[in-house]
Amino acid sequence: MIYLDNNATTFVDPAVLTAMLPLLQEPLGNPSSIHFYGQQAKGIYQEALKKIALKMGVQTDEIVFTSGATEALNMLIRGSPKGKHILSSSLEHPATLESLKVSGCRVTFLDPKPGQGAISPAQVEAAIRPDTALLVFMAANNETGIQTDLEGLGSLALRYNIPLVVDGVAWLGKEVFTWPPGVAAMCFSGHKIHAPVGIGFAIIKKTFRCNPFIVGGPQQHLLRGGTEPLALIVGLVKALELLKEEDFTRMRRLRDRFEEKVCHHIPGALIHGYDQKRVSNTSNIAFPGLEGDILLMQLDRNKVAASHGSACSTGTLQLSRVLLNMDLPANQVRSSIRFSLSRLTKEEEIEEAISRLVHVSNVLMFRNLIPKREASSTVSIK
Ligand code: PLP
Repeated sequence: MIYLDNNATTFVDPAVLTAMLPLLQEPLGNPSSIHFYGQQAKGIYQEALKKIALKMGVQTDEIVFTSGATEALNMLIRGSPKGKHILSSSLEHPATLESLKVSGCRVTFLDPKPGQGAISPAQVEAAIRPDTALLVFMAANNETGIQTDLEGLGSLALRYNIPLVVDGVAWLGKEVFTWPPGVAAMCFSGHKIHAPVGIGFAIIKKTFRCNPFIVGGPQQHLLRGGTEPLALIVGLVKALELLKEEDFTRMRRLRDRFEEKVCHHIPGALIHGYDQKRVSNTSNIAFPGLEGDILLMQLDRNKVAASHGSACSTGTLQLSRVLLNMDLPANQVRSSIRFSLSRLTKEEEIEEAISRLVHVSNVLMFRNLIPKREASSTVSIK
């Protein structure tokens, strides 16, 4: 199987598992305990914090581990002051949208300009009100890979003195990470970078006031109660250490080659956000004349795993909210599917995926030309 759905989740890197195993196989205490095992665990925890701080260019006491980005977004959004005005966008992940809806604040969801896959700083500036107390935007869209101008938003945040919270999930592990000035908090998910599901983290700058979302213990500066999941944290550290710039360059090269060949061989194929700044691993393509669902099923039968977009909406046969909000025509949206690479995607896999995709789309196009009765629903490639 060729796996091109890495924006939904990635497979655990064997090196990550190797780093985690001793913590699961050998006696391990609770970092809060004062005995030998507890102190040993505390040492591992503090070492992990130091490594992440170094990698991300932040302080150790600015890091809060969570179960994933959904929890982190809930904490950052629902933990901020109520009753104010928040600016965000209709392109955000459901974890952000739903957290905003129950935040107790008035929220303006900005729509992008037609065809654009991100909100511009100028749009945000025009929408700022005297009571605007928070900006919440994603660094990159998980469905299209289109990047937000974080530098521009950060400088707005500084100029207007409004905290900026960023969903960094689709950005981390695809582009070189540096903390954008003006960002107050950002969150990430382990399972998008080859660590296991169940671990994520937020970086919260000291200037940002945020109340705990999960209470019940004094851990993590009282911001997130509960015993720290050490094995998952060590796996996350390893996954972060394995992120290298040359892999981002390689992914971009493979992704670009994939798009070039697909457009060459499949008439009318249209890449969403082709002319916009995109992260290195994501390709969202419309195949006019084809149904995205059928194309996905046939690709699956031919052992290529791709997806519609948001992992949460896959399987519900809904049209992509993100593409519709970009004002793309419904028939184009219906024909769109997402391919997302990871640093472990091999060159041969991309070449093979191209030829299977071209074959499948040719067969489906041909099937569309003949009366329904005679059409076969199976497409197979040797
Ligand atoms: N934000 C974005 C952009 C995502 O793609 C996802 C997951 O698909 C999330 C947030 C939620 O992450 P998690 O699965 O760690 O809760």
